[in-house]
Amino acid sequence: MGNVYLNGRFLPLEDAKISVLDRGFTFGDGVYEVFLVYKRKIFRLKEHLERLERSLAGIYMKNPRTREGWTQILMDLVKDNPADDQSLYLQITRGVSERDHAIALAIEPTIFAMSKPLPKRNLVQGINAITCEDIRWKFCDIKAITLLPSVILRHQAIQEGATEAILYKGDTITEGAASNVFIVSHGVVKTPPKSSSILPGITRDLIVELLQEAGIPCKENNITRKELMQADEIWITSSTWEIVPVIKLDDSLVGDGQPGKLWHKAMDIYQKFKASQD
Ligand code: PMP
Repeated sequence: MGNVYLNGRFLPLEDAKISVLDRGFTFGDGVYEVFLVYKRKIFRLKEHLERLERSLAGIYMKNPRTREGWTQILMDLVKDNPADDQSLYLQITRGVSERDHAIALAIEPTIFAMSKPLPKRNLVQGINAITCEDIRWKFCDIKAITLLPSVILRHQAIQEGATEAILYKGDTITEGAASNVFIVSHGVVKTPPKSSSILPGITRDLIVELLQEAGIPCKENNITRKELMQADEIWITSSTWEIVPVIKLDDSLVGDGQPGKLWHKAMDIYQKFKASQD
């Protein structure tokens, strides 16, 4: 791995140090983004930077860099990494202050970014998922670093031999512990509408756009727990996972227990779009 970025400097990971009084450490007071790099180009950069702006505004933080400033930091990290396909992590915390909730005490944000080669994923054969109550907070549209509920939910999934937890609030499906959810029901693709209950996934938005362009019926509609259990196909999406078919949910097979027909189509459309981004 090449250098990481910390507060204006590029340096080896082992030399990147922050104070134990950083509010990211004491309060989880910060936001983040994960960007994918394909063939050395940052995928959906504008969309990620727009979401970052909304996350910062959502926690009452002034954006410490311009879009050009962020792009420069990220591009410098990409250049420093020999891998053509990478994953970029950017985290901004409110910075160092005495341990007091009041945000005005923090003067200077802490900005950290790193790149790693994109790990080879092999989830196309499908994954198992479990359903869990959504135990998170009311601002899930903010990409906050405060991820303890998601960590616990993912742990519960893994303990049950699954890869992801699909969450419900009351009778309604929200999203995965770290992904968005789509279902296919009678030939129609559905995903929950944007709200403060879900993170507006960059992958989710792109898939909705690409499916609609391709003339595949795709609706942003509430999904009930019953609809999820009876779905012909279930997909989960994220920048890192792209589109992954869920083949078993709790104790039941989804459809015939194989990645579905529309998943193959969506995946094909998504990969063609990626390849066209030169
Ligand atoms: N929802 C949650 C809770 C997530 O953590 C993620 C991934 N960070 C997503 C959805 C998917 O978002 P994206 O497609 O932008 O990676």
